[in-house]
Amino acid sequence: MELVRTADELAVRTAAARGRGEVVGLVPTMGALHDGHASLIATACAQCGFVVVSIFVNPLQFGPNEDFAHYPRRLEADLERAGEAGADLVFAPGVEELYPEPVHVTVHVGEPADILEGALRPGHFDGVATVLTRLFNLVGPARAYFGEKDYQQLVIVRDLVRELRLPAEIVNCPTLREADGLARSSRNAYLAPTERAVAPVLHRALVAGASAIAQGERDAAAVRRAMRAVAEAEQGVRVDYLEVADPERLRTLARVDGPVRLLGALRIGAVRLIDNLAAAPGVNP
Ligand code: AMP
Repeated sequence: MELVRTADELAVRTAAARGRGEVVGLVPTMGALHDGHASLIATACAQCGFVVVSIFVNPLQFGPNEDFAHYPRRLEADLERAGEAGADLVFAPGVEELYPEPVHVTVHVGEPADILEGALRPGHFDGVATVLTRLFNLVGPARAYFGEKDYQQLVIVRDLVRELRLPAEIVNCPTLREADGLARSSRNAYLAPTERAVAPVLHRALVAGASAIAQGERDAAAVRRAMRAVAEAEQGVRVDYLEVADPERLRTLARVDGPVRLLGALRIGAVRLIDNLAAAPGVNP
């Protein structure tokens, strides 16, 4: 497994892979790799002859009061992790490599980038779309792999690829969880032991919502209340949102008439966690 820092070196490697007839796959990450990332890389390796993992903490997708400066950066461990999972190449550019000054062009995303995560993190999805457009252009993947853990991001990435006609297929991968239900996340490292003990409440709240729907609840407000009751029963948890949305466009629903997506974000101390779950009438979570 090779580490590459520049777009020029990357272009040589991907051109050689394509020349050998290999399908190029891309797994975009911000590093601090965990089992969730490893599962994306393993899926990519099963489907592509040459798998690029990008590691880039993208300043454009962090708000001014967010954790950009403190986001965990541990390239050495990440290289080992990516190699073990089967990656062929890690692309870890510096900020100036992806955003040579001056930056004149960014991508703006409309609906649904303005709701849920986007309402609380203005400009976040513009930052995500901008970095992905640049990464897709540099890597030229035939397939790119994204986790359902970031469900709103997945919806927006599909819009981006379809509307800008980026020639890549988007593959979504299921959320990897700890045994107690907590979704794996690089930000879990921020949790103090007492906070870590509380953190699975987000998944429990979503499961409570999905169970209510499975048992016949059709009123989305009642489902929201059921999720909130679980989350707010824990000390020190602040709910940002717990929503019932349509799985395609993420519009908030009043009634549950078919498959829906339950999406949640909450804060435990200074740590913000997000998660989501599919739910449908008659389907137990
Ligand atoms: P990040 O490094 O947090 O930007 O995540 C990079 C990619 O890994 C994104 O497509 C995420 O959705 C995905 N990912 C993060 N956590 C998980 C998880 N627990 N299970 C599956 N995919 C994940």
